Amino acid sequence: MKKKSLTVKVIAGLILGAITGLLINLLAPDAFNTLNTYLFVPLGQIFLSLISMLVVPLVFFSIILGTSGLGDPAKLGRIGFKTITYFLVTTTIAIVIGLGLAAIVQPGLAGDFDLETAEFDSEEAPSVAETLLNIIPKNPLEALTNGNMLQIIVFAVFIGLALTALGERTKGIVNLVEQGNDIMMYLVGIVMKFAPYGTFGLIATAIGSQGLSAIKAMSAYMAVVLAALFIHAIFTYGGTVGLLAKKNPIWFFKKFAPAMSVAFSTSSSTATLPVSMDVAQKHLGVPKSISSFVQPLGATINMDGTAIMQGVATMFIAQAYGVDLTMTQLATVVLTAVLASIGTAGVPGVGLIMLAMVLGSVNLPVAGIGLVLGIDRLLDMTRTAINISGDAACAVYVSETEKNRSEAIQEKEVNA
Ligand code: ASP
Repeated sequence: MKKKSLTVKVIAGLILGAITGLLINLLAPDAFNTLNTYLFVPLGQIFLSLISMLVVPLVFFSIILGTSGLGDPAKLGRIGFKTITYFLVTTTIAIVIGLGLAAIVQPGLAGDFDLETAEFDSEEAPSVAETLLNIIPKNPLEALTNGNMLQIIVFAVFIGLALTALGERTKGIVNLVEQGNDIMMYLVGIVMKFAPYGTFGLIATAIGSQGLSAIKAMSAYMAVVLAALFIHAIFTYGGTVGLLAKKNPIWFFKKFAPAMSVAFSTSSSTATLPVSMDVAQKHLGVPKSISSFVQPLGATINMDGTAIMQGVATMFIAQAYGVDLTMTQLATVVLTAVLASIGTAGVPGVGLIMLAMVLGSVNLPVAGIGLVLGIDRLLDMTRTAINISGDAACAVYVSETEKNRSEAIQEKEVNA
């Protein structure tokens, strides 16, 4: 009952924030700036800092615990393989849905876009190869202080494996990590009490700062991205939960809604991680060891919503510039978008920076990003909610198949 009322409050904060932002933007644009500076931004910022504060220690403790909790390295290997395969397959499906829908609807032909003045500065795009080669931290403390998620994950997996191998001798450390993890999860519960106010502030800022005329001009593009995200959530995640995990998809989305609304308001998979792990463990029945492994990894490398946006945006920009993409070029887009979404950090707006890499791979003008830049924040909110749902769907799939596996093994043993 208590949890339920929190969900309702978070969603109420979200809706009220959207209405407030929209109304003030329409009726009193001048008043918006003052309210934004003194109310909306502080509310949002406090909430964002509170949850971000928990991310690094939580990921560190929980992955150590998850890895050592899985027991034997063979199980870790199996779960790791399942998880990464799932991430790659669903991201590929996501980008194909994005490209396909944009090819059918042709949002790039739905208006006169100002191609002359469109510009985008793409220097910041980190290379995917660089990110992947850097996953082993030379200095783990630096990784922790910089919040380099992939490096933290790798270091924590190593410690977890060592703890398993050393067994009794390191029992004290295991207890310590367990308690550290409990403290972080407890704090997630406390911080979430502020979530309704935080989401209110974040959404009011996001909606209020949008130029409404820009939204109108880009409505076809936005509609295609939103439709593709929706299709992916219903079919890919609904299918995962229903067919692979044999659970009810409606149950999944209903239970996971609080995490989705936090993702929606923060536009950051990483910042939402403490909440999405909490929901998966407490309400979706995912064991701690699996959630601790699958979700932090997913929040870092699995970005289906981002891949969808990149697919639609690539098609849109090609159409707006009058370029026909060949089959080979489309295949290149699929491949680079999968890589780009792996390389996208789970923070606001990075998906758009990585889009430069996708466009570059098929020689489309990177300046085209300038066309979609203005309205990206609204789409970022939605795609982040999809990004983290993919991680949770994977966690449910892995946990249910592992459960069935151990039941089947037990049955075999009893019959033997
Ligand atoms: N904001 C997204 C996330 O955190 C990444 C992106 O697409 O920009 O999941």
